[in-house]
Amino acid sequence: MSSHLPATVPPAPGGGEDGATGDLVLAPAAPPGTERLVADLREEVSRLIVAELERLADALAPDSDGAGRRRPGGRPVDRVVASLDLADAVRAAVHDAAGDAVRAAVAATCDRLADALEGHAAVADGVAVLSVAVDVTGTHAWETVRRRTARAGAFVEERVRRQLRDLLRGVADGDLAATVRGRAAEIGDDYGRVLSGLEIPQARRDGVAAVAEAADVVAATRWRASDDCPHAWHARMDGTVVDCGDPFVVPAVEGGDQPGAYPRAVFAVGADEPFGCRCAQDLVLAADVPTDVRELRGWDGVDVDCRVTDRQYGVWLDHARDGEDFAALLARIDAEYSRTRAAETFCNGSKKQLYGWLAEYGLK
Ligand SMILES: [Zn+2]
Repeated sequence: MSSHLPATVPPAPGGGEDGATGDLVLAPAAPPGTERLVADLREEVSRLIVAELERLADALAPDSDGAGRRRPGGRPVDRVVASLDLADAVRAAVHDAAGDAVRAAVAATCDRLADALEGHAAVADGVAVLSVAVDVTGTHAWETVRRRTARAGAFVEERVRRQLRDLLRGVADGDLAATVRGRAAEIGDDYGRVLSGLEIPQARRDGVAAVAEAADVVAATRWRASDDCPHAWHARMDGTVVDCGDPFVVPAVEGGDQPGAYPRAVFAVGADEPFGCRCAQDLVLAADVPTDVRELRGWDGVDVDCRVTDRQYGVWLDHARDGEDFAALLARIDAEYSRTRAAETFCNGSKKQLYGWLAEYGLK
């Protein structure tokens, strides 16, 4: 278990209108490595922008023998600013980092789901170990990540280009290069900070949403608003439960700084306004998830590693006390029953089977 929060808590009141939902699985806290992903992307975006602005500054230098040379038909500064080339490099950096964040979130969420399923079935490690693995590449959430990160590069290029035009308006030709160099680090860090602070946390939420869509054992998802989220309208979403595959519909609110185009339908918590969002997306187990792990074997994405035989599992399921694994149960049976009676009660009368089990667990 990777977080201080329990894997499951009782279902949310009002959740699952049709009553087809079960235990609530809390989304994991930031998986390990998240802070590093944010810091690395911030640094990389900043580095790309600074390097490109340095190239432009060289082209704008008075002694430049290249693109900065004054030519008839317009100021060289317009031509140089138009040549700003950031979109592809920034898009690739953001796409790679967001992909890493999604994969980390998917892995952490699958671990959380596996813990929840073990809790649901009340199995100890000595009886069965469950794991969850899903392919999220076909989900709405994954497609959202792909589309959002694809836009990031063009967005940054256009914003930086506009900023440069404003910055250089009225600057004497001889001061152009120094002006660009003087602001390069600041511009680079601004976009590095904004993009990394937006893309990585949202990719993490997208990863949780992708698991919700892809895992059979999840029936619905729930918006958990955070007091630390600056978007007042997210508080209105707190506790909202939607079936997997259905979007959250985020309402329009009066006043505040909500941008236009609301209400908006989004498939991941926070996707309408990712920057600064601290909300989380919880998963709700399907109500028909069995408590007998043998019946989970056919469920897509769930792997059941039963550490006992099916017959032993049946005995354990019918007779174990809370927290008792098969070895402890067998020791208790051996202490409380004669072997003849134990064989009759638990092994269909087969003393051979009982002695086999006792030998297997070092009790003979
Ligand atoms: Zn939020």
